[in-house]
Amino acid sequence: MMTREIRIIPLSEMPAFVGALMQGHKVLAPTRNDDGLCVFAWLAAPEQADWTCGIPQVPPKQAFLPRTEILFTYHREKGRETITPPPAPEPQIALGLHPCDVQAVKVLDAVFSAEPSPDQPYLARRAATTLIGRGFTEQDPLVFCRELGIDPMDNRDCDAFLVPLAGGQAEHTTSRMALEILTDKGVALRLAYDGFPKAGVEDLAAIAEARKQSAARGVPLLDMAVIQRRLENIFNSDLWNRIHEPCVGCGACAFLCPTCHCFDIQEEVMGQDGARVRVWDTCQFDLFTRHASGHNPRLSQKERSRQRIMHKFSYGVGKFHIPFCVGCGRCIAVCPAHNDVRQILKEISDFK
Ligand code: SF4
Ligand code: SF4
Repeated sequence: MMTREIRIIPLSEMPAFVGALMQGHKVLAPTRNDDGLCVFAWLAAPEQADWTCGIPQVPPKQAFLPRTEILFTYHREKGRETITPPPAPEPQIALGLHPCDVQAVKVLDAVFSAEPSPDQPYLARRAATTLIGRGFTEQDPLVFCRELGIDPMDNRDCDAFLVPLAGGQAEHTTSRMALEILTDKGVALRLAYDGFPKAGVEDLAAIAEARKQSAARGVPLLDMAVIQRRLENIFNSDLWNRIHEPCVGCGACAFLCPTCHCFDIQEEVMGQDGARVRVWDTCQFDLFTRHASGHNPRLSQKERSRQRIMHKFSYGVGKFHIPFCVGCGRCIAVCPAHNDVRQILKEISDFK
């Protein structure tokens, strides 16, 4: 992607930059909650953006697919219904996304723009969003995005991108951010970044060096074609007994996964008025597939655990040519049963 321009923002000036972004935009960014946990949340003040966070435990998908969303409201009178769509989405910025979370947005884009029924609420919100990614020089031991071809310094699919830079040769902690402007949406943020200096020759060299060092940490890629083929052949294998056995079906892995997008549709009716509401759901719950008749095609946790893996690494790859996993490691960090998707992928690859 062609970089339009690069500005240098001292870390101490980031609140001023974020404050300027908040003029006219809702801003979702990494922040710490009351328990000190890093989460993506809507900012109430620019100082809440926390640049010491790694990959926040709560992903940024709520910016694109809210936990609860009114699709439309309606009023019934004399046998007639009047339907009112929700207001148009406000302009918003998803700020500080790790490159794996940016690729998770591309997964959501693929799913929600698929024909024959592209999802209009999603697409409207996506069009109103400016994506500002952020590079990472250190890697969490649970993060395996490199094995899925995502470099933590990769700015692809972003409107703008922050590259953390150390102060000088003797200094290794981040003291400034290089803001790369990459698209027209990025250029539209000019009022927020215009007061900061353009990158000089030394800054450009530091950015290139950061990318070079990150690329040098490359690892062998997981062979998705092999994993997909293997999954097609082991649908009925005993392997799933082993994989599902520790799972308690809590759904945490799905709710915190940046690519999981299952939802339920509910009607909320009061007298003559009502609303059709979309809420997050997960294939890890028994109720998700239970029919009105009581029949459930995924009766046990074995079928539900298998579905999650099949959807991520077989159905997604077959239909959209991308895995529905970006290697963020959140599901590994939160699983109370210590299920590890990396281990599951290894067992699938090795299965004879
Ligand atoms: S977080 Fe772990 S225990 Fe909970 S549903 Fe996911 S795999 Fe099962
Ligand atoms: S499956 Fe786990 S590692 Fe993969 S994207 Fe989802 S939360 Fe991240």
